Amino acid sequence: MTAHTPTIFASVAWVALIMAFCLLVVGRLDQRDGLLTAGAGLMAHALAYVCFTFYGHAPLWLTYSLPNTLLAVALAFYSASIFRINQQPVPWLSVFSAPIILGLLMILLLDTNEPRMLAASGVLMVQCLLIILWAQNHQQPGGRAHLLLIVGAAVSLIGILIRIIAIITGLTEDMRYNASNLRQSISISIGTVTVMMLSLGLVLLSKERIEGVLKHMALRDSLTDLPNRRAIMEQMDSEIERARRHGTPLAVAVIDIDHFKNINDIYGHLAGDAVLKHCANLMRQRLRQSDGLGRHGGEEFLLLLPETSREGAATAVDDLRNYIANSPTRFGELSISQHFSVGLWCGIPTNQDTGTTLLAKADTALYSAKKAGRNTLKLAEDINISALV
Ligand code: GH3
Ligand code: MG
Ligand code: MG
Repeated sequence: MTAHTPTIFASVAWVALIMAFCLLVVGRLDQRDGLLTAGAGLMAHALAYVCFTFYGHAPLWLTYSLPNTLLAVALAFYSASIFRINQQPVPWLSVFSAPIILGLLMILLLDTNEPRMLAASGVLMVQCLLIILWAQNHQQPGGRAHLLLIVGAAVSLIGILIRIIAIITGLTEDMRYNASNLRQSISISIGTVTVMMLSLGLVLLSKERIEGVLKHMALRDSLTDLPNRRAIMEQMDSEIERARRHGTPLAVAVIDIDHFKNINDIYGHLAGDAVLKHCANLMRQRLRQSDGLGRHGGEEFLLLLPETSREGAATAVDDLRNYIANSPTRFGELSISQHFSVGLWCGIPTNQDTGTTLLAKADTALYSAKKAGRNTLKLAEDINISALV
């Protein structure tokens, strides 16, 4: 099982170089997807292992100090990638302080043996621990790519620990980069696992992040940043199902801004947009965490109040109506008043009730509220359908 150590170094360098090439080809400067940064890390990783290959045939600074510093640079780039993928500012100073410290230690301790080896291993170990911490903190909702980063960094830690234990127990000779023995083979081969897992982990983390952003965009209304029609209807289906299962009441309110066309006609479309955003913000602020609110159509909102009695829902929605009617939209110098009408259905859903049927009931109540002069609330149960036709 003992392999020729320089050969292992060369093969790890190959793997890192190929992976670096792939990421550098697809990574783009204008995209903060972290691929370029990961590619830069792999390139540093590959160079480090190329330098190790010449250990014993070239000066120590070139075959020990430089490659260990390059390994720290690689880990710093991997860490930076995690932040870039998450569209967060990279704490460059914290991330790159490790390679700077390691580089300085390598210059200061070049003529020593154990202290130099322990210093290099110690700094790399701290970097692996930081990658584990940052990967844990930057996991995507429902994603698993961070696990690859955690396992990759943990495996790397094991390789470093093998070295530290060997150095502490006086087996320094075994750990020279041109010595071939089982411990050395295991410790260095781990480099391949680290390269593969970290690079794959970063690529998949980037993919998960982009999927998350696309999903958010597909289910959000871009003007108000509320769930869009599709998202709120899906939420209504699951709330109906939940209310039916637990036998708890659910309130469904359709909210429609009154004479909104007039606002557009008088003040312009941008003012109309500002009114929509203002109403969405006011409603969002006043609702409970468990309530659902979405933009159902142009100037129509759908509100879901789970576990709310008929009286409670009517009071809450009417308070909301009053609040919005008394909070005009500021648009430049203008102060634009707006109010809305609401159709409210409330009850424990039966097996026949679906999102579509409950929406139709709330809609009928809304129609009645409009007929009653607007800026008012009507309950679906109170409506005599024949009076509307
Ligand atoms: P009612 O009181 O009966 O509800 O009258 P209304 O004027 O509010 O309703 P109507 O359906 O006649 O007009 C709605 C208008 O909303 C028409 C449409 O151009 C406008 N609208 C829809 N979406 C947007 C939007 O995103 N921004 C702006 N500014 N206007 C929008
Ligand atoms: Mg409407
Ligand atoms: Mg309207």
